[in-house]
Amino acid sequence: MKSIQNEVQSRRTFAIISHPDAGKTTLTEKLLLFGGAIRDAGTVKARKTGKYATSDWMEIEKQRGISVTSSVMQFDYDGFRVNILDTPGHQDFSEDTYRTLMAVDSAVMIVDSAKGIEDQTIKLFKVCKMRGIPIFTFINKMDRQGKAPLELLAELEEVLGIESYPMNWPIGMGKDFVGIYDRFNNRIEQFKTEDDRFLPLNEEGGLAIDHELNTSPLYEQTLEEIMLLSEAGNEFSKERIAAGQLTPVFFGSALTAFGVQTFLDAYLKFAPQPQPRKSTEGEIDPFSNDFSGFIFKIQANMNPKHRDRIAFLRICSGKFERGMNVNLSRTGKPINLSSSTQFLADDRATVNEAVSGDIIGLYDTGNYQIGDTITTSKDLFQFERLPQFTPELFVRVTAKNVMKQKHFHKGIHQLVQEGAIQLFKTVRMEEYILGAVGQLQFEVFEHRMRNEYNVEVVMERLGNKIARWVESDNVDENLHSSRSVLVKDRYEKYAFLFENEFALRWFSEKNPDVKLYNPMDLR
Ligand code: GDP
Repeated sequence: MKSIQNEVQSRRTFAIISHPDAGKTTLTEKLLLFGGAIRDAGTVKARKTGKYATSDWMEIEKQRGISVTSSVMQFDYDGFRVNILDTPGHQDFSEDTYRTLMAVDSAVMIVDSAKGIEDQTIKLFKVCKMRGIPIFTFINKMDRQGKAPLELLAELEEVLGIESYPMNWPIGMGKDFVGIYDRFNNRIEQFKTEDDRFLPLNEEGGLAIDHELNTSPLYEQTLEEIMLLSEAGNEFSKERIAAGQLTPVFFGSALTAFGVQTFLDAYLKFAPQPQPRKSTEGEIDPFSNDFSGFIFKIQANMNPKHRDRIAFLRICSGKFERGMNVNLSRTGKPINLSSSTQFLADDRATVNEAVSGDIIGLYDTGNYQIGDTITTSKDLFQFERLPQFTPELFVRVTAKNVMKQKHFHKGIHQLVQEGAIQLFKTVRMEEYILGAVGQLQFEVFEHRMRNEYNVEVVMERLGNKIARWVESDNVDENLHSSRSVLVKDRYEKYAFLFENEFALRWFSEKNPDVKLYNPMDLR
């Protein structure tokens, strides 16, 4: 059996950040194909072949009544064990999507070449940026007509504020797509390959062999752009990639699996293995023999017949063993990880190999909260608190039946504590306002209040608001208005919920002394 060191060194754990339709599912499937056997969290029993498409497990999860798709896919490739954590988007977008990014060591950003950088990508990017994790960019759909590559690079810089280094560069696009000029591997990779897929480049960066490309105007244009990049572009820097300051950019087409393997090979070369994580007892070394990890999301089972939840644990040190005894640092409570533990895998004998970088699912009967640390260490340390994410959607919530106030309060407070939703109270009326980053969170909340606490809630939509926290603990409560609602969060910190950008700006101009901040702003 491999040592912990060897195991950890082989782990690469990432999430894909993208806007719906950019090609996340397609790229994931292609990546999984390279790995052959696939394990994932969404299946009850592994299929015989051990291979199935992403769409299958989503269906299975639906059948099980878990509507919040959340999965970890794992594959082995070239000596690496790769974990891809799914980041649900669109209707399934929630704080869990952000929290998943707390559990990865790097991110792959997919950009649709025709659409450029889109909304959801920007939000997810900010969270990665906050953590300073490396971001690898895959510009997809080169088989279609899209924006000019130089324009896309400019967008990365202007919209996201990240510098880029193109590892390869497209020769044409759409129906004229010839392939990529691979600066990193010093070769040309052809899209349609009647002849060799790879053509070697010489030391000057031109084709090393006689080829019809030499007379192609598209190729000539590529060479000019490559020259421009070499002269005016950023320099390649492994260190800056590792620090999340420079994103290596790859062009390709997930649908036709073009450029995917080239991407994967380079990704594995530069993506970090699990790193030490900060805790209340200093940094925790992933190679340490003490087992530890933190819970980054809790998935409620939406099926009332199955009240159990699954808590997702990112392992940060040591080796997971079935039946091991751990302590929950928050309470000091001992927990046995026996049959209550579901390794996020099929029934292959992999259970002894779960180390830092891997994810396990713990059946939860109400023990865990998001952000909880469990460990076998005598020191009940806790990993860094997960950040607060800025909610964008709000509802006012009350109990339908006033007689159910007690259950209502208990339910809300437990769900808030668990991290399912954010709670605010208006300063004036002490009304309850719930905040979320996605509509799904309200639906889950409503459902769980009914099924777990037996309370029907009434939610009055307040729509989109801009939440800004107040730095000071003293706020003139007269600043409250319908367009700038003054609230307190669950930690009793003041915040304003602004009607829109205009209201925020107007307020800031009128009240320059009230220092506002957005916890998700790039620092
Ligand atoms: P997701 O929402 O990000 O998971 O996106 P999907 O992977 O489901 O892709 C959205 C649509 O784009 C689907 O119709 C895909 O077939 C298509 N698509 C994905 N990659 C490519 C590509 O490289 N080229 C083209 N032409 N279409 C693609």
